[in-house]
Amino acid sequence: MTASNQVLVVAEHDHGSIRTATLNTVAAALQCGAEVHVLVAGHDAAGASKAAAAINGVSRVLHADAPHLANGLAENVAAQVVALAASYGHILFPATSAGKNVAPRVAALLDVAQVSEVVRVLGTDTFQRPIYAGNALVTVQSSDPVKVLTVRVTGFDAVAAEGGAAQIETIDAVADSGLSTFVERLVAKNDRPDLGDAQIVVSGGRALGSSEKFAEVLTPLADKLGAALGASRAAVDAGFAPNDWQVGQTGKIVAPQLYVACGISGAIQHLAGMKDSKVIVAINKDPEAPIFAIADYALEADLFAAVPELVAALG
Ligand code: FAD
Repeated sequence: MTASNQVLVVAEHDHGSIRTATLNTVAAALQCGAEVHVLVAGHDAAGASKAAAAINGVSRVLHADAPHLANGLAENVAAQVVALAASYGHILFPATSAGKNVAPRVAALLDVAQVSEVVRVLGTDTFQRPIYAGNALVTVQSSDPVKVLTVRVTGFDAVAAEGGAAQIETIDAVADSGLSTFVERLVAKNDRPDLGDAQIVVSGGRALGSSEKFAEVLTPLADKLGAALGASRAAVDAGFAPNDWQVGQTGKIVAPQLYVACGISGAIQHLAGMKDSKVIVAINKDPEAPIFAIADYALEADLFAAVPELVAALG
């Protein structure tokens, strides 16, 4: 096996398990080269390595364990990746906040150009990625010796989390760079599915008018459907919904089985974050609302009447 057909996926994990985005990234990796390895850089992360070894299509897991890798500090994780880079033709990260934090550092340290938000692999050096908020796709050919990619997870169906039997190899952790120190992690508590992983998303726009109305009108629908809650940027900027609910170009990119957009106009920046959803339901009182152009089910109605009716109908 030569470096050019070995692919390294940098896993996103919580030390005990692997995040779904890693499975989509492995799917992209399998299209880049013959042998896919996964790097689990963490601390006390044997559970994550075990889970990585079970991913279908992965042939080797590289496990680097050290206290200074515990919190995913970009400087240390990037150094760990760069230490391995000579053996690989491609290094892939999910295009999540964590992946986007590390990948540019790796690319810069290797003096190569990063290809961002890849949605299709057309060949080992040729990739498609969206531009202009997803309104156009550009085909990029990279002549760099190692391709550093971030993978838009909605572009690739996740490989199975089970069925693989990769070998786990413990590797030396790089030294602490000392460039950054972990201070504190504040995680929003949420009983709902994570917005990025949810099968169903109920999303609200400016039309809701207040955070109280979000809770009163949209939460019961999300509860009935077992859905994550999302929001347009206008709703977030107005303080109706928390920041981490924002869907769109400057928020999260989602592609659930079902996306229910309530009182959202459908600006291109919002569509950029949800147009790959399998089924889109839009409730809007304006028949000209752009969201209707991409909706599979368009309900022209006042959401304050239609959503409670829907909740009642769901029983
Ligand atoms: P509006 O555009 O105000 O639409 C409200 C809709 O609700 C209207 O269609 C109206 O007909 C309908 N409505 C009103 N009352 C009711 C009712 N009672 N029942 C049913 N329907 C009703 N936006 C994002 O969402 N995500 C992003 O990531 C994002 N990034 C951006 C990045 C940039 C650089 C820029 C410039 C903009 C970005 N935006 C983003 C903002 C985007 O352009 C829109 O302004 C925003 O999406 C509008 O939100 P909205 O649809 O909730 O509000």
